[in-house]
Amino acid sequence: MKIIVNGKEAGSKETGCALCGATWGEYYEEIDGDRLFFCCDFCALEFKNMVNEVKKRTGWSKIDELIINGNYYTGRTCIAKLGEKEYKFYVKFNEEGDVGIFKEV
Ligand SMILES: [Zn+2]
Repeated sequence: MKIIVNGKEAGSKETGCALCGATWGEYYEEIDGDRLFFCCDFCALEFKNMVNEVKKRTGWSKIDELIINGNYYTGRTCIAKLGEKEYKFYVKFNEEGDVGIFKEV
């Protein structure tokens, strides 16, 4: 999965956390066959919950590319891509790391 966070490629130790872009931390999780880097387990949890919500709503089995703009406080406006298909959404997480607000944009 290709991931762009606030305009920069992310998802590895070099490029930064797959959700927030931070380069500190040392947490990895395999998602859809990719070993992704996260700054912490909380970002990983939020990322997984977001990906699962997108898959549930779109019926997709995977996501090719995910463009994420925003942060924890403002919420995030995102575009998920699968082949030629695009799915735009806004997501804000709650304090438990679950999807609090989810809107199709
Ligand atoms: Zn993070």
